[in-house]
Amino acid sequence: MGSQGIRVAIQAMDSIAGPRPGVLFLVATPIGNLGDLGIRARELLRDADLLLAEDTRHTAQLLHATGVTRTAGAIESLHEHNERERVPRVLERLKAGASVALVSDAGTPTVSDPGAPLVRAAIEAGIEVVAVPGPCAIIAALSTSGLPTDRFTFEGFLPARTSARRKALERLAAEPRTLVFYEAPHRLRETLEDLARILGGDRPAAVAREITKRFETTYRGALSALALRAAQDADMNRGEIVIVVRGAPEAGAADEVEADRVLRALLVEMPVSQAARLAAKLTGRPRKALYDRALALSPDE
Ligand code: SAM
Repeated sequence: MGSQGIRVAIQAMDSIAGPRPGVLFLVATPIGNLGDLGIRARELLRDADLLLAEDTRHTAQLLHATGVTRTAGAIESLHEHNERERVPRVLERLKAGASVALVSDAGTPTVSDPGAPLVRAAIEAGIEVVAVPGPCAIIAALSTSGLPTDRFTFEGFLPARTSARRKALERLAAEPRTLVFYEAPHRLRETLEDLARILGGDRPAAVAREITKRFETTYRGALSALALRAAQDADMNRGEIVIVVRGAPEAGAADEVEADRVLRALLVEMPVSQAARLAAKLTGRPRKALYDRALALSPDE
């Protein structure tokens, strides 16, 4: 960028920095490293008329640790348990001309965090909603995974219950886009085992742990190797975690979906080996591959 370009960029920054009356700002905050708090984010945390936080004590600590002293009123809470009841009052403040900044405990508000109902209500009320972008664990993990980033699907947290989780994964088995999941550390091992079993043990994947923090580590490899490592390496199961998995190969994906449909129907009626033999006849796919797949799909397994 030439000096003219830099001047233009700085002017653009000046003209949109800081709180504006009647605007709802969604402010991203660090997911570990406090140095990731952006300049605009600092200004809004300091100067917005109303600062809404998922946990006020947590945000007070962030302000203290980053040397931000609020010029305006106190911090108020907005979390999943009080969000709906708080929304009308927040809208009133916005309509009366207050600038409002919303933060969650870490990362981008509304992404697996509170805020979406407020955003919807503000849009319906004709209020301007502005992002102050910054840290987000999905994007950080995706960018370092080494897997395709041009198309991806964020699946949030998988269901905690085994059967619901497996069903969710079966629905994703033929998804060609890169898959991104949040996961709790104590469930990492069983989730990786299910991913390997249902999506295929040789699928390339990455587990990003403690991003931007002291013990930040990215584990890359085939799903089966990652599952094995999670069973053997206690450190891998500690801290905050994002799992990124390569999507299913495009070619033949439709065939796989069809084979699964046939296998599921047969498995209700007969044992795995018989279902695989019959499915091979019906679909023309190799019996061994269908047998392995039938084992993964079998409700008894
Ligand atoms: N809004 C946040 C964001 O923008 O990333 C996500 C909030 S969600 C409640 C918390 C989950 O995000 C964690 O359980 C973990 O899966 C992921 N996460 C957050 N910070 C992380 C970090 N530093 N390293 C790895 N994963 C992280």
